[in-house]
Amino acid sequence: MINENKSYVYLYRHENYDDIEIKSSLIDILSSTHVIEKIENSNTRLSIFIKLNLVGPFSPNQAITTNPHVLDLILEILKEKDINNILDITVGDNPAVREEIFTMKKTGIYDIVKKHNVNIMDASKISKITCPDYKLYRDFEVSTEMIDADIFINLPKVKTHTLAYITVAQKNLFGLIYGLDKSAWHAKASNPLDFAKAFNDLYLAFLNARKDKLTLHIADGIEGLEGDGPSTGGIKKEGKFIIASLDAISLDRVSIEILKLDYNKSILTLEAAKRNIGEANLKNIIINNDLNNFSDIKFKEPNNSMPNIGLRFLKIKFVKSMLFEHPKADSEKCIKCGECYKICPPKAITFEKGKVPKINRTKCIRCWCCSEVCPKNAMGKTKRPLVGRIFLR
Ligand code: SF4
Ligand code: SF4
Repeated sequence: MINENKSYVYLYRHENYDDIEIKSSLIDILSSTHVIEKIENSNTRLSIFIKLNLVGPFSPNQAITTNPHVLDLILEILKEKDINNILDITVGDNPAVREEIFTMKKTGIYDIVKKHNVNIMDASKISKITCPDYKLYRDFEVSTEMIDADIFINLPKVKTHTLAYITVAQKNLFGLIYGLDKSAWHAKASNPLDFAKAFNDLYLAFLNARKDKLTLHIADGIEGLEGDGPSTGGIKKEGKFIIASLDAISLDRVSIEILKLDYNKSILTLEAAKRNIGEANLKNIIINNDLNNFSDIKFKEPNNSMPNIGLRFLKIKFVKSMLFEHPKADSEKCIKCGECYKICPPKAITFEKGKVPKINRTKCIRCWCCSEVCPKNAMGKTKRPLVGRIFLR
């Protein structure tokens, strides 16, 4: 059935990646959202961009990056439907620190790319996009191929996130921005609520640039991360679902319900709702499944999460320092690679070759980029200060 409602959410239960029904769920999504119809009815070149989550060079078993099997099935379906041979498919992302091909090889994505003979994004091509109704930032430099594609398929993982609380469809679009430039955005908007504003400026700019084109989000929660995600600090957990929508906000809102997380802490979705971007009101979202079929699914939230209202106090820097933990490298686990030092937006980390990195707490903005890129989950946390222990727990 073709569905015209942008707030429609497609939700399927799959116990694990061996389930042969995953392909029929993906066909249902691609057909219901007009993707297959567009491919079959076109006789001129049609470009498709598949936006992965390649946050870092992690093994597919860690459930941090886009699962290669899910990408494999999507490419298989697209190729099967391309009877006129008109498709020009590109896949890619802007990894935080390491280059794209290296990251693709480590995540198992490169083998799938070669199997289906599709293009890899050229990260050097950059375009400027503009947010017409911005709160903090108007202009963004993003990867051209992501913006120009006739069809954009966003393919994130379902994960909790230390800074943003949850990362599913909307947050995965941070990868529109080139590698290390992403960390500069953390420095520009260092408070979580400012980050949510800036991020929604980016999201609106993206929607504006693609307003006449098809954009679809398909999130893989068959396995995801709970706790201190979105990288090695999180714990792998079976979510047992695939979820899709033409609206990233509707998709994220329903994911929060499935995972039994707290909507009042999901800073990106709350900011989107405040600005009437997408649909965050569950009553207005139509789901093709009963949420009771997912009653056994529950993800732990990040350790330092707090409601939106509490985050307002974090604009005052010393309050933040008194309440919360800071990152601290674990000398047992650290391999002294320096990745945390390279990504740190305010240059709060000092690193000497062969030594464990040190953190300047006064400069640290607690963006947790260091933890996100650490290959060994070595960037731990200090004990929460006494004041924070009293007021936040
Ligand atoms: S030390 Fe880590 S958490 Fe602190 S500012 Fe640098 S990257 Fe962000
Ligand atoms: S803390 Fe992690 S990222 Fe930083 S140097 Fe050690 S292993 Fe590398």
